[in-house]
Amino acid sequence: IFENYLESGISQVLSKATSKPPRIVYGDKGSVKQVADGSIIKRFDKTPYPVKPTDVVCPHFLELKWAYGCPFDCSWCYLKGTFRFRPEGIKPAYKDLEKVKLHVETFLHEVETPEILNTGEIADSLMGENGDCPFSKFIISLFEKQNRHKVLFVTKSTNVKNLLEITSPRQAIVSFSLNAKPVAEKWEKKTPFVKKRIEAAKKLFEAGYEVRIRMDPMVPIENWEKYYIQLID
Ligand code: SF4
Repeated sequence: IFENYLESGISQVLSKATSKPPRIVYGDKGSVKQVADGSIIKRFDKTPYPVKPTDVVCPHFLELKWAYGCPFDCSWCYLKGTFRFRPEGIKPAYKDLEKVKLHVETFLHEVETPEILNTGEIADSLMGENGDCPFSKFIISLFEKQNRHKVLFVTKSTNVKNLLEITSPRQAIVSFSLNAKPVAEKWEKKTPFVKKRIEAAKKLFEAGYEVRIRMDPMVPIENWEKYYIQLID
C-alpha cells in the first residue's frame, strides 16, 4: 500500500511504520484518549465542557489522522492557522498507511464502546482518491470487518467513484459540507459547485451510505435567509 501511494505521486509520507504493538490509552472518564502516541488516533479535547446553557458545545470526538491539509482554498479555513508554520501551508501530505492500518486495527479489535472516527478534521477525507490505493477503499475495508465502530468522511469533494464501488457499506458515514450559493462562490475557492456536492451526496445515499449534510459556517450575507432556505430546499 505504501509503495502504491508513492507510485501514485502523492507528495509526502510523514512517518515510518512501527512494528511495536500500539497501546490504547484511556482518559479519566474511561473513554479512549488516544492510541499509542496519538499520532494516528487521538481524541479532540482542546475545548472545555459546557457549563452554562449558553456555552458552546464542542464534542470531544476521535480524530483519525491519516493525512494533513486540503486541496481546496476556503477563505475561513482553520487549517491555515493550524499549519501556519509549515512551509507548504495546507498542501496535502499523507501518513504511512501501514502505521494507520496497525493503529486502526488495534483500536477496532480492542475498544468495546462504539465510537465514530473522524477522518476529516485536519484533511479533506476524499483528497486521497486518485492513486492505486484510494484512501476510502483502504479504510472502509478495515471498518467493514467489524460492526461496532464507524468511520466518518467529512468532505467538499465530489470524487465519490471509489465509494460507489463498495457494496453494502455499513460502517461508513459521509458528511458533505455545503453552503449558500453566493457564499460558496465567493469564499469556497477551488471547491466543486454546491449543486455537484448535493448530487454526489444523493448518489451515495442511493448506494446505501449513511449521508450527512453540514452547513458550516453560516455567513450573514445580505438576504441570508433566502439563500440558506434555497440551499435546504
Ligand atoms: S474544504 Fe475544509 S479543509 Fe479544505 S480548505 Fe475548505 S475549509 Fe479548509
